[in-house]
Amino acid sequence: MRLILLGPPGAGKGTQASGIIEKYNVPHISTGDIFRKNIKEGTDLGKKAKEYMDKGLLVPDEVVVAIVKDRLTEDDCKKGFLLDGFPRTVAQADALDGELKALDYSLDYVLNIEVDKDILIERAVGRRICKNCGATYHIKYNPPKTENVCDECGGELYQRDDDTEETVSKRIEVYLKQTKPLIEYYNDKNLLVDINGEQDIDKVFEDIVNILGSDS
Ligand code: ADP
Ligand code: AMP
Repeated sequence: MRLILLGPPGAGKGTQASGIIEKYNVPHISTGDIFRKNIKEGTDLGKKAKEYMDKGLLVPDEVVVAIVKDRLTEDDCKKGFLLDGFPRTVAQADALDGELKALDYSLDYVLNIEVDKDILIERAVGRRICKNCGATYHIKYNPPKTENVCDECGGELYQRDDDTEETVSKRIEVYLKQTKPLIEYYNDKNLLVDINGEQDIDKVFEDIVNILGSDS
């Protein structure tokens, strides 16, 4: 299974990704996670990415494209992959298209998770992430059993620096301008499927499985 998860910030891409990768046994390629890991480790890439992320802007295309190209050539991607948060611009989508052709891979679906703007801000501002394993929670909609403690690994939860109301609003603006055109881009390629992301987490997942099929 070769998939892209498309949708505005806070739509639930990461949340659905964790279920999809488990059910369909494919690696999860989240460019946001890759940047956050690099920031945590203090690498040059992390320092560069942070400048853009803190402002709610996109990291330059050439930086992101190089990372994803490298990642796609790794062996585990032979069984498929789930791209989450990439591509985010038409230039990235074109670069991905070229790389997939070179690797002789074709995409199965682009899942477009749709959520209204007002809901997005509340979701992103209430998001909490495990420092240790990266699991995602929401203080109201998906709280951990014990406040600030990860159900999966017992790690401490934190709020992303870019999950303030101001930065999330900027990220939504950037999404509308730079990423939304990808809906038409993939619709023209007959790969796009819209998913109603305003339902409960489990119902969204059920809709996704109905599209992908239950064979893992
Ligand atoms: P994205 O990866 O698209 O930015 P996330 O998966 O991190 O979004 O979800 C953003 C926030 O919204 C998280 O706190 C998550 O727990 C919560 N969330 C995700 N899906 C839903 C849903 N269907 N209903 C309510 N809250 C959700
Ligand atoms: P995410 O974790 O997907 O919400 O991404 C967090 C931030 O990382 C974004 O606001 C961007 O600054 C950066 N980022 C992640 N993926 C990309 C991408 N494909 N292109 C450019 N910037 C990205």
